[in-house]
Amino acid sequence: MIKVSDICVHNQDSTGSISATVDVNGKLKTLYFETNFSLKMTSEIDISNTLLIGLLPLSFEKQCDIYIEGSIDEKLRKEIVNELFPVMQQVYKISQLPQISFLKNESVNSVSSAGVATGLSCGVDSFATINQMRSELTHLTFFDAGSHGKGSYSQAALIRNHRYNNVKKAADELQLPLLTVNTNLSDFTSAKFQDNHAFLQISCAHLLSGLINTYYYSSGQNDDYLSKHPLDFIYLNNFMVHHLSSYRLKVIASLTKWGRIERTKMVSVMKTAHMHLDVCVDTETAMQNGLINCSKCHKCMRTQLTLQLLNEYEEFDHVFDSKVFESERDKFIAYLILTKREDVLNAELFDLVKELDGIEFKVYYLLMHLKWAKLKKKIKRMLVA
Ligand SMILES: [Zn+2]
Repeated sequence: MIKVSDICVHNQDSTGSISATVDVNGKLKTLYFETNFSLKMTSEIDISNTLLIGLLPLSFEKQCDIYIEGSIDEKLRKEIVNELFPVMQQVYKISQLPQISFLKNESVNSVSSAGVATGLSCGVDSFATINQMRSELTHLTFFDAGSHGKGSYSQAALIRNHRYNNVKKAADELQLPLLTVNTNLSDFTSAKFQDNHAFLQISCAHLLSGLINTYYYSSGQNDDYLSKHPLDFIYLNNFMVHHLSSYRLKVIASLTKWGRIERTKMVSVMKTAHMHLDVCVDTETAMQNGLINCSKCHKCMRTQLTLQLLNEYEEFDHVFDSKVFESERDKFIAYLILTKREDVLNAELFDLVKELDGIEFKVYYLLMHLKWAKLKKKIKRMLVA
């Protein structure tokens, strides 16, 4: 049983914090959220929603029931039990579904304000959502819920600060207020952030319910996903997010109509993206080189190559190192050939390279090297086993 009790809300002039005791099968731990905005507009029910959504992945991981010492949002409960649970059951491959219980049942909520928000990570999906929804947006968000590394380890904090400084400048340029939430929610699950990112981030979004009534969650995939992949964690975290809506907060998955190349095209014309695009998964190297992006990791390479093929790469010379990119370019195209069967995004980009640029002999030579390295790894694994 996961039992959430002693829920305390503290408000100072312009910041807020929440703490709660989480009892996981007899082990007690404190869960906290800190916000750069006052929680005076956030209702008791919004807070219960936050706690429930954030701890749902844990209840599936541990296969145990969940009890929240607070009030229930009836719409959210119904969506979770009727729509989300059957999909989660398949993804987590469990036979028995957890039970949700609350202290009180409440079905009527006060109306929230008419604000509209989306997350700003400065990645391609985040900027593409802003490009599409700019006229509607009233706020941007930056959640520290595990995407920068787990816990309060110093390296995770450094990465978080590096990304935050860039995001804050971008939000200022976009002239939208940036609301932040910091939480230790990810410490409660042993799963990878990629497997429950929607739960962790949308949990934080519910704390904004007094300020906004719509939250666009940038989907990383387009809507033909299930025709090419099995029902998995990626599907759960990208296409089921609207079932995490309450009476006061509507959650909408954005961009599901567009593929990666179209999204990059949208971003390529955004002035703020030219100065602040951050797609890197090796932020440590980027920080050492004094750049926003390392320019070498697979996400940096994928984005740079797409921008180059779209004839927009030069606009991004502030955020990427073109020398690093050019030195890695052929090897990366060989990698696309090697992985195009398993990765739809790589297949899509490889088709674009073929169509616009052609493939040089050098790439096939490098492909042979990659195949040989892969084979050597396989043989080594077999020998060790
Ligand atoms: Zn990188």
